[in-house]
Amino acid sequence: MTTRPYIVGNWKMHGTRAMLAEARAIDRAAERLLKVEVAIAPPFTLIHATRKEATLIAIGAQDCHPADGGAHTGDISAAMVKDAGAGFTIVGHSERRANHGESNELVKRKAHAAIDAGMSVIVCVGETEAERDSGKAASVVTRQLNGSLPDGDEVADKVTVAYEPVWAIGTGRTPTPDDIADMHRHIRKVLEKAYGDAGSEVRILYGGSVKPENAAELLSADEVGGALVGGASLSAESFLGIIMAAAEDERE
Ligand code: PEP
Repeated sequence: MTTRPYIVGNWKMHGTRAMLAEARAIDRAAERLLKVEVAIAPPFTLIHATRKEATLIAIGAQDCHPADGGAHTGDISAAMVKDAGAGFTIVGHSERRANHGESNELVKRKAHAAIDAGMSVIVCVGETEAERDSGKAASVVTRQLNGSLPDGDEVADKVTVAYEPVWAIGTGRTPTPDDIADMHRHIRKVLEKAYGDAGSEVRILYGGSVKPENAAELLSADEVGGALVGGASLSAESFLGIIMAAAEDERE
């Protein structure tokens, strides 16, 4: 199993070309932090320019359409984001599931489209607060994984899972490291069932209010292979604080 932590910044609907300075600063610093794999998923409009500014880190998209092309006004296909410079795409983020009614079945089709286009995918899952409070977190996450993960052992090396409890996203609240470890161990079992031995190699990221101040503690939880970071990825200073915490946490 790869031990290099994977720290991914999700810029969401933030950023005009002025943000390219942050990408450049992150990329320059990443050169000195090679123990960590660093990526940014800017909005579609900045993928090409960010790819040109940042030569070391990975650049990805936040979503793609499942179709190759056609009459889908306002949508972007996997081949298009790949052509713009994306090496991966996030699929199934809870904001897309909530704001755009994305089903597990649609997330799976998007994941297959991205892989067919030559990218890897970060498949996001996570329970709401009501689901956690009613003891359903594990069953909700299992259902999301079984419905959203792309099929076939041969695609496992293209898949990363991000566990992002909905109630922790952008709220400043986080699960305890023990709760994160419990869920990540559960996700590992689901991955091994889905992909066999290859499931033990799939990286599982934690996402939800990761900041420089809590990164070391959250990243040290069992089975946490990195972090998906929203708000704290928008400035090079705070994102680099998380990347440095990950560099120190590197497990042999
Ligand atoms: C996210 O939206 O993927 C996320 C983890 O956001 P934040 O870090 O701001 O909670």
